[in-house]
Amino acid sequence: RAAGDDRPPRTPLEVLSEVFGYDSFRGDQAEIIDTVVGGGDALVLMPTGGGKSLCYQVPALVRPGTGVVISPLIALMQDQVDALSVLGVRAGFLNSTQDPAERQRVEHAYLGGELDLLYLAPERLRVPSTLDLLGRGHVALFAIDEAHCVSQWGHDFRPDYLQLAVLHERWPEVPRIALTATATETTHAEIAQRLELSEATGAKHFVASFDRPNIQYRIVAKDNPRAQLLDLLRTEHAGDAGIVYCLSRKSVEQTAAHLSSQGIPALPYHAGLDRRVRAENQSRFLREDGLVMVATIAFGMGIDKPDVRFVAHLDLPKSVEGYYQETGRAGRDGLPSTAWLAYGLADVVQQRRMIDSSEGDAAHRRRLSAHLDAMLALCETVGCRRVQLLAYFGQGSEPCGNCDTCLTPPEAFDGTVPAQKLLSAVVRLDQRGQRYGAGHVVDILLGKETPRITQLGHTDLTVFGIGTELAEPEWRGVVRQLLAQGLLAVDGDGYGTLRITEASRAVLSGDRQVPLRREAPKATRTRSTRSG
Ligand code: ADP
Ligand code: ZN
Repeated sequence: RAAGDDRPPRTPLEVLSEVFGYDSFRGDQAEIIDTVVGGGDALVLMPTGGGKSLCYQVPALVRPGTGVVISPLIALMQDQVDALSVLGVRAGFLNSTQDPAERQRVEHAYLGGELDLLYLAPERLRVPSTLDLLGRGHVALFAIDEAHCVSQWGHDFRPDYLQLAVLHERWPEVPRIALTATATETTHAEIAQRLELSEATGAKHFVASFDRPNIQYRIVAKDNPRAQLLDLLRTEHAGDAGIVYCLSRKSVEQTAAHLSSQGIPALPYHAGLDRRVRAENQSRFLREDGLVMVATIAFGMGIDKPDVRFVAHLDLPKSVEGYYQETGRAGRDGLPSTAWLAYGLADVVQQRRMIDSSEGDAAHRRRLSAHLDAMLALCETVGCRRVQLLAYFGQGSEPCGNCDTCLTPPEAFDGTVPAQKLLSAVVRLDQRGQRYGAGHVVDILLGKETPRITQLGHTDLTVFGIGTELAEPEWRGVVRQLLAQGLLAVDGDGYGTLRITEASRAVLSGDRQVPLRREAPKATRTRSTRSG
């Protein structure tokens, strides 16, 4: 509510219906809004699509002054402001993409009390003049969006967020509301501490259920990913809008081209594309029906398309937080939707390599590793995916009956002997001062007399040919699961060479059992629409 507004103050419910056209609040919205309208601080954890925006937009319209929203999503600010203008809300933004004249116009409007909402990129706060500017106007509240960016433990740390504590020091009487769709208990605690929003200091915490019951989670072993994807799209999602995430720009372009060549309308999106092409593809995806967006994770933050029917990952996400945020873009309308991920051994090797060669200190690499390990554990669980996901976010639940492991429970077996065989092979090679990747080690176990094995003299190893009870895909499954359980490690040396870990020793000595899930044999894949 701008300072110059001399209409009588409205209640939150009046604002909800008159401005936004809705007749009731959802979940905790009413209580959150009352807290902030009343001048209190709030920390809000709500899943994507839960309705976080209204939690600060409504109080900003009820309280006198301008609601200042800190958001890292610079690319979306124009859209947000435009969308609000359509509703008659006076909004503006300040970020680095603006020319000085445009910035001045917004500053003027703010100082003149003509703005209900002002979106601010966090790096603007590094400029002392921004704080001075805010001080010369009237701030109704501070909203800190994507608040997990303040967490160094989280997957999306932004150093500029650390200075947000300054807002509270300078304007202790202005209410603050921090919001995020992604927070483990660790991140939750870290947000509260760094932003001085702990319950001990009077802030109220609102933690919504993170469950998205209409999303069916499925994780499959990567076999021929393009054919697997095509199969999914043709048999279950013909004509549906969806997002396909790939790790690299190259694979984004190849996958989009491949889908198009197969008659599925697909568009590419990644940071290397020309700005205009990117904007055009994004707006077509939002506007048209049944388009498939093939993208890197650069795509999707803040995108509000209700009828995204599937989110497919062709590569392993780096963290459970990232995975949950990306899959959360499916089914905002509440209708049944699919979250599908294909993952294989090569993903683990590739991610290890990325971690080992990443910039940053040892602590940083340990954090990346821990994120990867949690993601692998999700992929290899024999239990309900949803239970595992929600547990990761600190919420307990019952098996859901609507994920792949609930619908087709994987067969578990005692994998201690195969694990010992595989680890022994790695140890034997190590004793010869040699290390190899999974493919070669499995060839040894299967007793394959390939030219390479003969040439290296590996037919002489005592472990040569001791593993014929499992087929090659099953062995690859064993390797993946041992990696996920921390019983085997892969080097980030570019070759994906295997080595044993501290924990492997207990398996080799027979002191530790290794439960494994059996790989679904290829032939019994649920659907088998073959395509080139
Ligand atoms: P989030 O930021 O938590 O992902 P949004 O604020 O974008 O979620 O809200 C998601 C969708 O739900 C939006 O289209 C929004 O207009 C709608 N929405 C939010 N609150 C309500 C409500 N009380 N009644 C009806 N629709 C709502
Ligand atoms: Zn389940």
